[in-house]
Amino acid sequence: MAGLEDLYREIILDHYRNPRNLGELPVPPAVRAEGFNPLCGDEVVVTVSLDGDRVAEVRQAGQGCSISRSSASMMSVAVKGRSVADARGLVRKVKAMMSVHEAQLEGEDPAEDADDASDGSADPEELGDVAALQGVVKFPVRIKCATLCWNALLQALDEPATPATPS
Ligand code: ZN
Repeated sequence: MAGLEDLYREIILDHYRNPRNLGELPVPPAVRAEGFNPLCGDEVVVTVSLDGDRVAEVRQAGQGCSISRSSASMMSVAVKGRSVADARGLVRKVKAMMSVHEAQLEGEDPAEDADDASDGSADPEELGDVAALQGVVKFPVRIKCATLCWNALLQALDEPATPATPS
């Protein structure tokens, strides 16, 4: 398993050093959501532009620790081009992946979250680089760093669609 952990660390560092989709889209027509993690001081700004029910563009910006920054970069890559429903599903998977471990670490009965667990651990290929965030769950204080941008994404997707301004 050490090999896998090294791989996860490499992926996280790569996204931290070479953040993808960095910046902000003009709002409107894009929608914008912010997240703040007081435990660590992480800030994230997520802007999303939708094309119908598809996530056409995602930009992420902010400041914080390597986990929060690399998670935002991974998120932007993972959801770009997906349908809104798929993007929401991916957020659920990521949060399940992180929360199941959190529950286990807190000594709760893991069986309670059995459904979420199978949902979260299924299909590592769909998660792509995002699977590297699993390496974070061993450090419970960092879980909020990793999920911050995903919550901001959900918030952005929940914004009412801005109608295109007639020219
Ligand atoms: Zn952090």
